[in-house]
Amino acid sequence: MTPVYDRVALIGLGLIASSMFWAIKRAGLAAEVTGYARSAETRETARRIGLCDRVCDSAADAVAGADLVVLAVPVGAMGAVAADIAPALKLGATVTDVGSVKRHVIDAVAPHLPEGVHFVPGHPLAGTEHSGPESGFAELFDNRWCLLVPVEGSDDAAVDRLRALWEGIGSNVDVMDADHHDLVLAVTSHAPHLIAYTMVGVADDLRRVTDSEVIKYSAAGFRDFTRIAASDPTMWRDVFLTNKDATLEILGRFTEELFALQRAIRTGDGDMLFDYFTHTRAIRRGIVEAGQDTAAPDFGRVGTSGGAAE
Ligand code: NAP
Repeated sequence: MTPVYDRVALIGLGLIASSMFWAIKRAGLAAEVTGYARSAETRETARRIGLCDRVCDSAADAVAGADLVVLAVPVGAMGAVAADIAPALKLGATVTDVGSVKRHVIDAVAPHLPEGVHFVPGHPLAGTEHSGPESGFAELFDNRWCLLVPVEGSDDAAVDRLRALWEGIGSNVDVMDADHHDLVLAVTSHAPHLIAYTMVGVADDLRRVTDSEVIKYSAAGFRDFTRIAASDPTMWRDVFLTNKDATLEILGRFTEELFALQRAIRTGDGDMLFDYFTHTRAIRRGIVEAGQDTAAPDFGRVGTSGGAAE
């Protein structure tokens, strides 16, 4: 494949950036990929495993001369990183990010970017519960969605080029408005993560009573909650702090539904429960039919490292 960009710089070298690197290399989408992570330990690991063609000791060095700069740090760190790299950005370069929340990232990053640099925020809807430079793999984004969220005045050609990169990486690409993105993700990802964190917390409380039974018999649905609740604490703290309104809105609706189900159980309303579960089962079938998960038992994750943490 012809390279989409001559030089790509990855700022932050965790799960998402490392997976992007391996996918970019798999398809030959960039002539050179530079990388930077804030800790010497992560930079050392990256050099050891061949993550990036060149690992730099400063973010400014990594972005110098880059045609595309990818911010792949926690959402709460995006603004500071943008301020740090801004003076070193090449005229005509595109800056994108992979953050799980979009309105906050746009507000935090855009003011720092100089005239003549394009900003095209993005969000690949793929992840696992693992993090760090060694957790990435080229197939992570295959057949997953990547949402591009252009800001006012985003250059069409810059958006098209970034789309070509994500398609080359293996994703399907859609364009979405920032506020809509944050609401959709609150439903599909952020609220479910909070519910998983809560359920594991409840079970942990119970464990003190039932000893190790919660772990021993965890295959009965609970195990999948623990996988989601093992997701990176920094990333998820930042997601909830920066997508506050949409998450609280969805959790409010969730609580109302939960009360309705609680009442049905208390009053013995079997019809209500049956109809509710029939409807939710149809939603699951729709996800499988859309190719976003397999119908295999055990949630289709036997022997894989996940693929649905986002
Ligand atoms: P990760 O594996 O934990 O890696 C995070 C990277 O950011 C590391 O290189 C880390 O550097 C660096 N970093 C952490 N805090 C920083 C700070 N305060 N300033 C500068 N750099 C910092 O994270 P990830 O899963 O790749 O997530 C990266 C971004 O992708 C996040 O914005 C997240 O919302 C988004 N995202 C995640 C997923 C997912 O499922 N994981 C999916 C889609 C999008 P050190 O290693 O040196 O500490």
